[in-house]
Amino acid sequence: MTSVATREPPFTTGLAPYAGTLPGHISASAAKNYLGCSLRFWFERVACLRKPTSPALHLGKAVHATLQAFHLARWRGGDDSPEAVAAAYDRAFHELERDEGPVNFDDEADREKNRLDGLRVIAAYLDSSEVLTGKPRAVEVLLKESIPGLSVPLTGAMDLVASDYTPVDFKSTASRPDPWGAAFDHEIQLVSYQLLMEAATGVTPPSLDLVFLVKTKTPQVIRVKSPPADARRKRRVVALLETVVAGIAEGRYHPQPSMPCSWCQFKNECMNWCPDMTLPGADRRTA
Ligand code: SF4
Repeated sequence: MTSVATREPPFTTGLAPYAGTLPGHISASAAKNYLGCSLRFWFERVACLRKPTSPALHLGKAVHATLQAFHLARWRGGDDSPEAVAAAYDRAFHELERDEGPVNFDDEADREKNRLDGLRVIAAYLDSSEVLTGKPRAVEVLLKESIPGLSVPLTGAMDLVASDYTPVDFKSTASRPDPWGAAFDHEIQLVSYQLLMEAATGVTPPSLDLVFLVKTKTPQVIRVKSPPADARRKRRVVALLETVVAGIAEGRYHPQPSMPCSWCQFKNECMNWCPDMTLPGADRRTA
């Protein structure tokens, strides 16, 4: 079995590392990761154990980088032609594999199938009624703001901010999302974006949007709109974020067996966990 001993990570995971102290900030993605399973969070973001990238994650990152290039081109009046977008995708697919791989492709045919799946889903977005047409307010916005009720700053990176201040986040997925379930799953992220937007600009966005790029045989592009959060929804999300901040600060990391264990890459390490184990980076024993 793999040990969970501490070590200096000899690589970058692209994720902000967290220690067993009050974190410098909290993001919606870190919070969702921690709430899903605090021990998996520890493996990924405290111990920074490296695992091969799954094809789905690799594809999602390449699609995300390509949409960013397309939206930036549209924002700045650059080359947003389908050819330029396809070239940006091939570049991202290759560079992410080189810099953040290896990717768990079965073989070269599987790699090519995944590459083509990404190209198809991007082409579907460019042809869809959901494609960005006018000039957005901003692309890939990084915000860090103090939020009442939260003891550390909240951070977030919005894929796109529409001209009316609607934050838009893009998701690659294998199956068609149920709108209510999708909004529920991403509530922490959507409301965090609203909190950041309100703190940074004083404006409440008219909608909180997710655009799903669905990798079905015939790719689909589905927008899920969520109304802006009222005071109760905001309090609920701030409380969830603060629960995570407290958990990290107190070094609370333990297994949370559930359905996602089926695809967790840390099952062997998880089996090594014991309640009397001191996890490096955590201030206290985990139970
Ligand atoms: S196997 Fe399950 S309980 Fe263990 S770290 Fe992974 S998600 Fe958590």
